[in-house]
Amino acid sequence: MLTLIDYRVRQRDYLLQIARALTSRLDVDEVLRLVLAASLAMLGGEVGLVALREADNRFRARASVGVPAEKLGVFKPLLESISLDEQHGGIQYNQLNLKMRLVARALDLRLRQAIALPMVMGDQILGVIFVLRSYVGEYSANDQSVLQSFADQAAIAVHNAQLYERLSAEQQRLSAILEHSADGVLIMDASQRIIGFNKALARITGWSQAEAIGQLHDSIISWERVEHGQPLGAALASGWGRQQQIDDDEPDTRYVEGDLRRRDGSRISVGITYTALFDDEGRLQNIIANVRDITHFRRAQEAKSAFISAVSHELKTPVALIKGYASTLRREDARWDEATVQRALAVIEDEADRLAALIENLLAASKLQAEGMRLTQIGEVDLKALLAQAVERFQTQSDKHRLVVALPPDLPTVRGDEVRLRQVFDNLLSNAIKYSPNGGEIRVSGAFDARGVTISVSDQGIGIPAEELPHIFERFYRVDSALSRRTPGTGLGLYLASAFVKAHGGTIRVESTLNKGSTFHVWLPRSPA
Ligand code: ADP
Repeated sequence: MLTLIDYRVRQRDYLLQIARALTSRLDVDEVLRLVLAASLAMLGGEVGLVALREADNRFRARASVGVPAEKLGVFKPLLESISLDEQHGGIQYNQLNLKMRLVARALDLRLRQAIALPMVMGDQILGVIFVLRSYVGEYSANDQSVLQSFADQAAIAVHNAQLYERLSAEQQRLSAILEHSADGVLIMDASQRIIGFNKALARITGWSQAEAIGQLHDSIISWERVEHGQPLGAALASGWGRQQQIDDDEPDTRYVEGDLRRRDGSRISVGITYTALFDDEGRLQNIIANVRDITHFRRAQEAKSAFISAVSHELKTPVALIKGYASTLRREDARWDEATVQRALAVIEDEADRLAALIENLLAASKLQAEGMRLTQIGEVDLKALLAQAVERFQTQSDKHRLVVALPPDLPTVRGDEVRLRQVFDNLLSNAIKYSPNGGEIRVSGAFDARGVTISVSDQGIGIPAEELPHIFERFYRVDSALSRRTPGTGLGLYLASAFVKAHGGTIRVESTLNKGSTFHVWLPRSPA
């Protein structure tokens, strides 16, 4: 027979065992299962429940024994007996058995006593363990103290597991942010060995995560050409990263820009910012590299300078012609016959028109950039008349090209901005002439259905290489070819045409075969949404 002393020793042993088991667990659900099993064993309960306090200060059932998961709702009355009034350890004991009876009835079980053990850390109630049993038992002061010390252990274990849960969630969130960052991120240890390498960087460098992790920085980041700043090795050699800067708010970073050699040998323009991280003792711990693909930026810069020289050229040519003809006409020592005067004036007028069109395009582009596209004068536009006029105008500019209009006679009108639509087709026709230096036919055809009208402008010119097609509607973009270098242009025409068409709710696309010709298709809704 057990003596009272034996019994107490056993009780303590058991408690110690549980405490050990609890503190070694870091998974909240597992800790709660253990806590419940131990509580039920100690108190001889049939039904058990652990409720934890959530961020909104409400208590929610997190683990149970003796009740199927879908019936957890029956514990609602018990959960309501928990108050945040810490005076009674958070439990309104006077109502406990009453609430328990409601639960017992809902579960159809013979339960006669409810015991609630609050889990308290500091002055915070973390949760409550409920044990329901089919008999009413008394418990001594010793039992009370054993139970309380168990609940305290449980509180610590739950608290730790919750901290761990939060920490790993936070860590997962951070890794996800790094992983999905649009910029490449590289994390190194103090000896420049790679310990982190995100998706964007794999895309930029062509090296996979698995290949890069464990490698030295320089075997992945290899410069073909450095344009600004120092590569990491040189920066470290010159003393950077050796000592922590005093000003913690301004991390000590290094920026380097240039062309990287990718895994497949191709090049990519990047800017890399290196940041050094130090430990508490000021020793270098990690180096973080943010790698940004600046190809677009570079291309935009190049396009812009090409644009400025193109515009200057575009302005210079007509101005020189106008000036030349005007000074010739003004010469006092010469008398010009009427026909010569007319020819000179026609050139002056044409060139002035060209200048006006160029200025119109420049203004439209800068307006578009500043305030987006707005259609101002919407009305019924007769595309047939508009195109016939445009074709007639362009035909006078070239006798090498044959301009043909083949539109359905019943082509319906569209609702739109006539000025803008005229600019669209002027740009397409002017390109068709410019980019078919050997002449040929330029055909304007059309089709329509209930929703919209398609106008196609096709030429038999130089065509556009397939790899250039995705870019030709970009601002300032010009295909680099011998002809285009000789041909005046600013790279704005198609950019504007596309913006105007889109503003009408329409689309513009191109089909082209190199050295055979191009066809631009403009679709416009009969009335924009
Ligand atoms: P640009 O002022 O250079 O003509 P655009 O924006 O009108 O500018 O056109 C962009 C580029 O697309 C041109 O530089 C040219 O290389 C190409 N392109 C446009 N239209 C044609 C065409 N009909 N045939 C061949 N290439 C074309």
